[in-house]
Amino acid sequence: MVRWAIAVHGGAGVDPALPVERQEEARRVLARCLSAGAAALRSGASALDVVEMVVRELETDPVFNAGRGSALTRNGTVEMESSIMDGLGRRCGAVSGVSTVKNPVSLARLVMERSPHSYLAFDGAEEFAREQGVEMVDNSYFITEENLRMLKLAKESNSIVFDYRVPLPGADTCNSSAGLVAAKADGGGLPMMNGLPISIYSPETVGCVAVDGTGRCAAATSTGGLMNKMNGRIGDSPLIGSGTYACQACAVSCTGEGEAIIRSTLARDVAALVEYKGLSLPEAVDQAVKERLDEGKAGLIAVSRNGEVAMGFNTVGMFRGCATEEGFMEVAIW
Ligand code: ASP
Repeated sequence: MVRWAIAVHGGAGVDPALPVERQEEARRVLARCLSAGAAALRSGASALDVVEMVVRELETDPVFNAGRGSALTRNGTVEMESSIMDGLGRRCGAVSGVSTVKNPVSLARLVMERSPHSYLAFDGAEEFAREQGVEMVDNSYFITEENLRMLKLAKESNSIVFDYRVPLPGADTCNSSAGLVAAKADGGGLPMMNGLPISIYSPETVGCVAVDGTGRCAAATSTGGLMNKMNGRIGDSPLIGSGTYACQACAVSCTGEGEAIIRSTLARDVAALVEYKGLSLPEAVDQAVKERLDEGKAGLIAVSRNGEVAMGFNTVGMFRGCATEEGFMEVAIW
């Protein structure tokens, strides 16, 4: 019998100046979802059911950038994306550009289980959701006051990829070390993309990985993407092998700047290091973060079929937590 384990993340886009109350709120939500996942694994639920259930919870809570509370496109709408993968048989499903589906992760699972495809996007994904009878809501359900305010600030500072480090009126500008500067119209020393500044952190995408008592691994990731993103922009979260991956050996969910994660094929790289090089999960995560990922861009959580948990990031922090059958449980940010 294998020992179960679970890990959850709420994004690597941590503002170093995030108010303590908001840190506490995020910790509380993560701890609640983690406990629910651990309880389900304890009572024999499959890893696949558990990652879907935990991500649904996180989508429903507006604290994180997934489902309700999703980041907004530059048009002020929500275009969500999600993926799920079952290590057993390497089955997967993904959706992008979803705007009225209450729980995109469950739609991704339906793509996996009830469609002949792996990935549906925009109108086709919405049409499939209607056919499947999943719960649908108006786009306005996902839009929070806070995100409208954030979008306005992002637009004012002409940032493509907005994060909490754009200074709020009257607030101190964040520390400028490690590129932690506000995205200004002139670039402010930030990396540029097509002549426009990009900031390198994003608000809180969610993900969950689990291994159950039979050694089955599964992963799921869900996001609204990046604040002020172009319409139609697709990040790493729905891309199997980039933001999400699971096989017989392990399961991985990533968060951070999608463009960097995509070009690193980060989730699959971790699995490949375990499968082909025989590394332990912590070694594989360490190597992928250090050698494959651009500095300061992202993080990931992973579990292996042996019940190992590993979490790594090269950003300032990552909202994260894990629990194991041995009774270990931790929620952390920095
Ligand atoms: N990876 C996500 C994206 O680029 C954002 C995040 O992880 O917060 O869409």
